[in-house]
Amino acid sequence: MLSLVQWLRPRESAMARLLGQFVRAESPSFDKAAVDRFGRIVAAEWRRRGAGITLLRQREQGHHVRAEWNPHGKQARGQILVLGHLDTVYGLGTLERMPFRLSRGRAYGPGAFDMKGGLVIALFAVEALAGTGHAPQKRIVFLWTSDEEIGSGTSRAAIEREARRSDAVLVLEPALGRDGRVKTGRKGVGEIEIVATGRAAHAGLNPEDGINAIEEIALQIARISRWNQPRRGITVNAGVIEGGTRTNVIPEKARVVVDVRAVHATDMRALERKFRALRPILRGAKLQIRGGFSRPPMERKTSTALYARARALAKEMGVTLGEAYVGGGSDGNFTAALGVPTLDGLGAVGEGAHSPDENILIRALPERAALLAGLLSTI
Ligand SMILES: [Zn+2]
Repeated sequence: MLSLVQWLRPRESAMARLLGQFVRAESPSFDKAAVDRFGRIVAAEWRRRGAGITLLRQREQGHHVRAEWNPHGKQARGQILVLGHLDTVYGLGTLERMPFRLSRGRAYGPGAFDMKGGLVIALFAVEALAGTGHAPQKRIVFLWTSDEEIGSGTSRAAIEREARRSDAVLVLEPALGRDGRVKTGRKGVGEIEIVATGRAAHAGLNPEDGINAIEEIALQIARISRWNQPRRGITVNAGVIEGGTRTNVIPEKARVVVDVRAVHATDMRALERKFRALRPILRGAKLQIRGGFSRPPMERKTSTALYARARALAKEMGVTLGEAYVGGGSDGNFTAALGVPTLDGLGAVGEGAHSPDENILIRALPERAALLAGLLSTI
């Protein structure tokens, strides 16, 4: 580990420079042309380091970029999958009010933390392994997807396919906290929409003929809110509500979109069943239930061994590597649910993901790259 850190430390400013290039290439999930442009920049960096590039072409979203680094060719013993995403939550033009900048040891800009910093870490981890003669025994597949921030609809199948062939999955999502904790568990996450249909009528002339869809939705929200069990890790949050047309009309339509999360797969399934079993409360109203969990929980047991390995490697560098359980999902949820050992939060150390203040700690970049390099060469 020490030779890796020593090789990487002098590259700290080169890492920050590459991050600047990445952040300046904006890549909002919904802008295919922009994501593709950024994907080409990332692919070029990987080609320069000797990786084989395959584009997984998409019609609506940006292409996913698969980079394979296999220094031992046919002699490779197994595969490690490294996951990250090209897209960010920031619309095109965000750079104008949130430019890339370095200040007091931090690098700011849209996507710097989530997760372009992680992409830089991966490139330098590979460079450090090549530069110090520690080429890994296994084939390493890096999958840079284009739609993680919008649910991974077009990338999930590719992620699962590669994960099934892999002995371990390392995810370069941001670390947690100033001390850079890795993520050893994540809640399962979903979105459920309830649509109520009533009957329109005049609120003054014939209110008795109407069925108020907003009232139906309100009653349903009161019901599902009671399913919250924060101590068990179950949360149900009515986050978006819509309905009605004018105050003097009894509304025919209303809908609510609910965020659902669970720690245990069994709770996830039970919650989905309860939603499907909802029946109208007002006489004559109709309900439609759509959606469900899009990411299963990442249960801690799938990361125990990898975390122990990462902690030991960090210790060689004199770093205490903590772990965290988080409520947000990532693509690591998919791979962990397949039973493939998965460790998440191996990316940059920083703060303010998805906010105007998003930034990373530059000093931590070489250390994180060394940690990833250590994992790649010892798993
Ligand atoms: Zn992310």
